[in-house]
Amino acid sequence: MKKSPCKKGAQKAQIYTTCIRNNLITKDLTFSTNGIKKTAKWEHLIQLYQADSFIPDCKMLPRLTDAHVIPEKLPKMKVRNACQVFSQRVSAIMNFLASKSIIDPGAADTAEIFLFFDKLFDSLNGSFDKVVDGKIFRTSVKKNSIHHQLWMDSLKVLSTMKFVNKNGKAVSIPTIKNWEMTIRGFQTLSKALHIKGIQSLLPRVLNQDSLENLFGGIRSVGCSNPTCSIFMSSYKTLLLNNLVSSHSPGANCEDFTEGCLLTYKNLFSIRQETPEMPLLSCDLPEQVIPNQLDTTQYLRDLTHTFISGYIIKKINKNLLKNCKTCLKLICSNNTSSENYELLQAREYQPSRPSLKYPAPSFGLLVSKIIVNITQCLPSVCHHPKIKSILIDKILSNFNLSILHCPKHDDSIQYKIAECIVNLFLHFRCTEINRILSGKRKIKHNEKDPIKLLANSWYEKHSKKKVKIGKFNQV
Ligand SMILES: [Zn+2]
Repeated sequence: MKKSPCKKGAQKAQIYTTCIRNNLITKDLTFSTNGIKKTAKWEHLIQLYQADSFIPDCKMLPRLTDAHVIPEKLPKMKVRNACQVFSQRVSAIMNFLASKSIIDPGAADTAEIFLFFDKLFDSLNGSFDKVVDGKIFRTSVKKNSIHHQLWMDSLKVLSTMKFVNKNGKAVSIPTIKNWEMTIRGFQTLSKALHIKGIQSLLPRVLNQDSLENLFGGIRSVGCSNPTCSIFMSSYKTLLLNNLVSSHSPGANCEDFTEGCLLTYKNLFSIRQETPEMPLLSCDLPEQVIPNQLDTTQYLRDLTHTFISGYIIKKINKNLLKNCKTCLKLICSNNTSSENYELLQAREYQPSRPSLKYPAPSFGLLVSKIIVNITQCLPSVCHHPKIKSILIDKILSNFNLSILHCPKHDDSIQYKIAECIVNLFLHFRCTEINRILSGKRKIKHNEKDPIKLLANSWYEKHSKKKVKIGKFNQV
């Protein structure tokens, strides 16, 4: 076998993805599929992010923050952020908004390249034998698995890829060549292993993370360039440290942890047994959601429908367990309606739908609850037991008894309400944490007192200096 460039393939694939992203921020990426020339631009992602940010009470892409999208705020070598952008989810929603001309219709090309790298990355990162979460490429490589076709097609597309700078000149970027080399390496390796009788290969194991961690550990207890004997003694030290640390599964330090746990237990139980209700004589002002543009209203309705589907999926898994009568009450048979456009766009394989499509009545109910919660949450979020306050409010304001069959008891109503409340409490906490850490800018017309407080805390504690990086040109 030739010198194998695919060693540590999975890890390299991560780095290449990050490099592609960093180049895409300052340059456009041109490529051809089936003889059609296309252009991907970072600007399209910014448009998508802005359209999403306008929705007042929920997000289509809740994971994206300024640190994923806004060039000045991007941590350049953070692999995870790059991978979250090059994802099926971002690609699907970008494609959908482009098809509706809500963002530049040319964003369809960018969506295509995001999906391209998502698939390619998955195909070099498979760690399961079976398909998990519909990720068909994150599986083991076998003789007739779908990876081989993907790699062949990808090589064709990669050979047409070029980065073009703002002056229209092509810039040569080694990452694209490296991608090709890695894929060819995987092709060679899987063939060679097959000849040796190895039927299945998990690409993720070709990764030197654990080795690097070990050497990092050795250096941290010994010196930076260990000799064989220093290596041995450092290894022994690490082994011993590991055995006495409380994280080690084989460690016998029950007395130790028990002592710690007792104090923690006291801390929590004291607070729980004598809950001192702080005197809260007043609520903060209620928020009125300002009128939105038609497009935002449209996206918001679609996202509410999507969330309703997510809630059905969740309660079905935990409670309904595919009870046909219940699902008939809350799901829709007609999945082609316009209300489901976002759900359809988000399916991994449109031919094999795996998401739940809420019946219009259930969707409307969830949407009303969401509006109700987000309206009152800013004014009462400082109260203790906020979760049960909100659940009680939902149960008394809305009739959830129509949502289940007689076989399932009333506790299901509580669970549905709890599911929605959990989701939106979590969403609110995330939003406020992001404002506190500067990952999200506050909206110019923001009136929510807690968000305003969080913002002024961030402005007081953040470094005043605005960094001027090389990506500021975009
Ligand atoms: Zn039932």
